[in-house]
Amino acid sequence: MHRPADKGFIENLVTRPLDELAREADSVRRSRYGDKVYIRGLLEFTNRCVCNCHYCGLRRGNTKVTRYSLSEEEIAGSVQRGFAQGIRTFVLQGGEDPQWDTDRVCRVLEVIRSRVGDSVALTLSCGIKSAEEYRRLASAGANRYLLRFETSDPLVHARLRGGISLAKRVEALHDLRSAGFEVGSGFMVGLPEETTETLVENLKLCVDLGLHMVGIGPFISHPETPLCNHPCGSMDQTVRMTACLRILLPESNIPATTAAGSLETGGRSRMLSAGANVLMPNLTPLQYRGHYLLYPGKDTITRDGLEELDTIRTHLEGQGWTMSLQRGDSLAFSPTQNFVFNRTK
Ligand code: SAH
Ligand code: SF4
Repeated sequence: MHRPADKGFIENLVTRPLDELAREADSVRRSRYGDKVYIRGLLEFTNRCVCNCHYCGLRRGNTKVTRYSLSEEEIAGSVQRGFAQGIRTFVLQGGEDPQWDTDRVCRVLEVIRSRVGDSVALTLSCGIKSAEEYRRLASAGANRYLLRFETSDPLVHARLRGGISLAKRVEALHDLRSAGFEVGSGFMVGLPEETTETLVENLKLCVDLGLHMVGIGPFISHPETPLCNHPCGSMDQTVRMTACLRILLPESNIPATTAAGSLETGGRSRMLSAGANVLMPNLTPLQYRGHYLLYPGKDTITRDGLEELDTIRTHLEGQGWTMSLQRGDSLAFSPTQNFVFNRTK
């Protein structure tokens, strides 16, 4: 079982020189995951959302978005194309979209499973649902779930998420664990009122939750949101948080996120050098890409993730890493620790 984090240790960690932190994180990562960088194929399956998060370009209140959702065939077909290229992990991400209720998500999971079998890992990232819904999604074939807590500051969390509490988000993360998922969460760097104390608490919450995957990235200001005038998060701070996470959670999978690549050229490489070990090329059909703008300047709007695989491989090899298309389960994950997980289908 994981232990609660020692806050004093984290407080010391975050103040260490960045170069030194990144070097240590890199060596921890190599001791667990070698030089492998795991690839996850990302499908942004709906940009409709009933939530009104202050930071997000897809928020309900942004009427300038052209809303779309992929058809079941577009989703399953995209997964099949990725599978044919060797990719063994797919992430289905979207807003909280009533048109995609749990029954419909279960159906598409079953269609995907019927086409590509059990060797792939299927990850969902589509918001808060009930414990019972999470169990059904797991039974239909989902293995992993990403649900960032965004900030561990309860007041800021509630304000930025239209009154939805941090406690509810954390409860959902516990429900996901009980449902047998490999659980991912994380936070944005640079949200309003962030202090060193917030960053320490964010790290501490990641450890206390015993996360199998941790996704973080800089906040990037979107012009059509209430945070339009708030400055973007800092890349240095994002790299610092990545390194701290790797040291605190040596066995977790940590992606070098699109937000980092969008804020700064080379942002993802900096995260990889500081302990991250996952990349998520975008497999969403190109005609929808420009409409999934959580934040502006997303750097994956025009490039096809599959065509990009060779470029990614070459780039990674140039930096001394190896691209891996395997499913790359989190070393921190043990199904029996969550509970004995039986797929019913
Ligand atoms: N609706 C789901 C998944 C889509 S949003 C959910 O909210 O969990 C995925 C992630 O995008 C969020 O968790 C948030 O951390 C990130 N995000 C949203 N707006 C952002 C912004 N302006 N800058 C950087 N990241 C953002
Ligand atoms: Fe919806 Fe997720 Fe954006 Fe919030 S962050 S508005 S839940 S898509």
